Amino acid sequence: MSDAQKKKKVIVIGGGAAGMMAACAAAKNGCAVVLLEKNEKLGKKIFITGKGRCNVTNACDPETFFANVCTNEKFLYSAFYSFDNYSMMDFLEEAGCKLKVERGNRVFPVSDHSSDVIRAMEKELKRLGVEIRLNTAVASVEVKEMETEDGMKSIFHHVKLEDEKQIVGDSCIVCTGGISYPQTGSTGDGYRFAKETGHSVTACYPALVPLVTVEDWCRDLMGLSLRNVQLTLEIDGKKLYKEQGEMLFTHFGVSGPLVLSASSYYVKYLASGKKKDPETKLYLDLKPALTEEQLDKRLLRDFDENKNKQFKNSLGDLFPAKLIPVMIELSGISPECKICEVKKEMRQSFVKLIKHLPITVKGTGSFAEAIITRGGISVKEINPSTMESKKIKGLYFAGEVLDLDALTGGFNLQIAWSTGHLAGSEQGI
Ligand code: FAD
Repeated sequence: MSDAQKKKKVIVIGGGAAGMMAACAAAKNGCAVVLLEKNEKLGKKIFITGKGRCNVTNACDPETFFANVCTNEKFLYSAFYSFDNYSMMDFLEEAGCKLKVERGNRVFPVSDHSSDVIRAMEKELKRLGVEIRLNTAVASVEVKEMETEDGMKSIFHHVKLEDEKQIVGDSCIVCTGGISYPQTGSTGDGYRFAKETGHSVTACYPALVPLVTVEDWCRDLMGLSLRNVQLTLEIDGKKLYKEQGEMLFTHFGVSGPLVLSASSYYVKYLASGKKKDPETKLYLDLKPALTEEQLDKRLLRDFDENKNKQFKNSLGDLFPAKLIPVMIELSGISPECKICEVKKEMRQSFVKLIKHLPITVKGTGSFAEAIITRGGISVKEINPSTMESKKIKGLYFAGEVLDLDALTGGFNLQIAWSTGHLAGSEQGI
């Protein structure tokens, strides 16, 4: 028997972050690895990450990493500690992709090109002898017990391709991703493979996603981006998120970094099933650096200097031009009203509006616009120390296909790298 025949054959389905890493780790362990990807190239989703720059991971401590995981963070302990963010940074640097750390410990390639991350992964896959089959869509995964040459019974994984052909392996690692941005190839096939092999899949929601709002004025502000504002998410009167940063108005509501993070807490609440249609408000503080008292003093000063101007012509220093008509309308003060006629109570309620601008949320954007899928294959049925199914020997799952998700900042890719690496490392000879 030749060496090649003796090697354990591992089939990895999905050439995204988790699949490429799993294939590398399994090949490093001496296995014969075949990586199946339905697209014409590897890492289509990685290519669009971080606005094309790929926020590969986060250079934080373990506590911060776990604090940024929204769902099932405890399940990730073994995977993260066996291949953490620093291991990933070393991996990429050794494969020739130099990295840099930016604000919030976000790690990017020095070149600012996500394609360099993909290139480094491909280089490793080739160096380790992984057989890469592109344009190869898997239709189903079947597990059969068969007799080996020595008369022993053993489990084999039959992976059926869409062209009716099949590949047989000793084990199979499913890394097909979630259902967000389906044009990148993540169309939820792994959920089907999991169900067909007797696993449960929890309800899936779009997460890290823009929010749809009730108020028409949000749509009037389409394209307006606000920096250094504070956003508070309140559901049924409970504050669930408060952060300072940047946000954006869109044709259906709000988006931008603050809103995407808030959406994860909103979706978590929806997924908890506590209430189907909770009263959801965002409160925008347009001047977070000032207390209400300080802002009132500032307004008083501005108004003193503009006594004879009309209200609509006195707000240029306070807000971006596009926001002025909206703030005037919401204030209830007549735009033509002379500043000297604005009463104290009117000014004080204007201060309140600037500090707590209410926006009503009626839902999220679709999976097509969601950075991540919340929900997926139930981690209760997966061994966290190996990523192997507790139900079927030799069947592994890794990456976003599992019920795992995190906030923005490189944490989601780190989940894919860590779980992919653990699943691959478990493939002995
Ligand atoms: P995927 O990357 O989705 O890979 C799954 C692969 O499986 C795909 O290539 C798919 O074609 C293939 N596949 C699916 N079904 C089959 C089948 N039947 N047969 C064969 N192949 C199949 N995270 C960060 O940490 N940092 C960021 O900067 C960041 N930016 C993002 C920006 C955007 C716009 C989006 C959408 C996501 C971003 N994310 C980011 C999230 C991150 O990209 C994902 O968490 C990560 O890619 C998940 O990796 P994965 O390998 O599990 O799945």
